Amino acid sequence: MTKPAMQAPDTSQDPAADRGEVRVEQLTRRFAQRRMEVLAVDDVSMVAGRSEFVTILGPSGCGKSTLFHVIAGLLPPTAGEIWIHGERVTGQTGHVAYMPQRDNLLPWRSVLDNTILGLEVEGIRREEARERARELCVRFGLGDFVTALPRELSGGMRQRAAFIRTMLFPREVMLLDEPLGALDAQTRLLMQEWLLDVWEQMSKTVLFITHDVDEAVFLSDRVYVMSARPGRFVREVAIDLPRPRRAEMRLGAEFVALRNDLLAHIRTETLKSFQETRA
Ligand code: ADP
Ligand code: MG
Repeated sequence: MTKPAMQAPDTSQDPAADRGEVRVEQLTRRFAQRRMEVLAVDDVSMVAGRSEFVTILGPSGCGKSTLFHVIAGLLPPTAGEIWIHGERVTGQTGHVAYMPQRDNLLPWRSVLDNTILGLEVEGIRREEARERARELCVRFGLGDFVTALPRELSGGMRQRAAFIRTMLFPREVMLLDEPLGALDAQTRLLMQEWLLDVWEQMSKTVLFITHDVDEAVFLSDRVYVMSARPGRFVREVAIDLPRPRRAEMRLGAEFVALRNDLLAHIRTETLKSFQETRA
C-alpha cells in the first residue's frame, strides 16, 4: 500500500499541544541581605507537562517560594529563563494562577468577593463572577459562608477560599505554595484527597510546594527534591502509584518505599540546613 500524499496532522506541531507546559531553565536567584549575599536558588531546571502534578519538596528556607515568585514573574531571576506553553515569559506576570504561601484573603471582603478577585482582574462583571464563584463555594463546602468575612472561617475554610480564588483565575497552570500548610494533621489528609478530586476534574497543570514527604508522594506524578540553601534540585522521583489515589494506599509497600527514599534525602538536606543555621 502506498503512503497517502497527505500525512495525518502532526499534533506535536499544534501550538495548543503543549499548553499547560512549564519549563524552568538554569534558574538562579541571589538576594542582597544586609552585607551578605544569599544564593536562594542555584541553577535549577525543571519541567512540568500538561496536566501533570509536580511537587517541589524541600526544607524550610531552601528557596521554594523564591522559585515560584520567579515562575510567576513577580521577581526577576538573576540568571535563567522561564517558558510557559512554549513561550519565553521570564519576568512577565499573568501567565499562571498563583496561590501564595499565606492565603492573603482581603479581610474586608466577604468570602465570595475574595474568591472572585482573579475574575475581576480579568475584567469579568462582578455579578457574573459571583455567579461562577458561588457554585464552586457550594461544591467546596463554603456555601453557608459566602457572606462571611475571612476571620470568621477556620484555617481549612480559608485555604479552600484561597484555592477557589486561584482556581477561578483562568489559567492552565496553577502554582500552589504550601496550600495545606496551616492545617492540623487530620484536616490536611482530608484536604489532600479533596485537592486531588478537584485536580482530576479540572485537568490543570499543578506545581505544588510542600515540605511534607507523605503529602508529596500522595499527590504527585513527579517530585523534585530541593537541597538546603543554596536551593538546588538533588533528586527527581516519578511517583508511579495508580490514580485515583486512595487513602489506603498510604499503607502500601510501594508508597512506603517511595516515602522512605524521599525521607532519607530530605533528612540529609534538613540536617545540612540545621547545621548551617547553627554555625
Ligand atoms: P522557602 O520557601 O523554601 O522556605 P524562600 O524562597 O522563602 O524559602 O527563601 C529562600 C532564601 O532566600 C531565604 O534565606 C530567604 O531569607 C531569602 N529570601 C527570600 N526572599 C527574599 C527577599 N525578598 N530579600 C532577601 N532575601 C530573601
Ligand atoms: Mg516558602
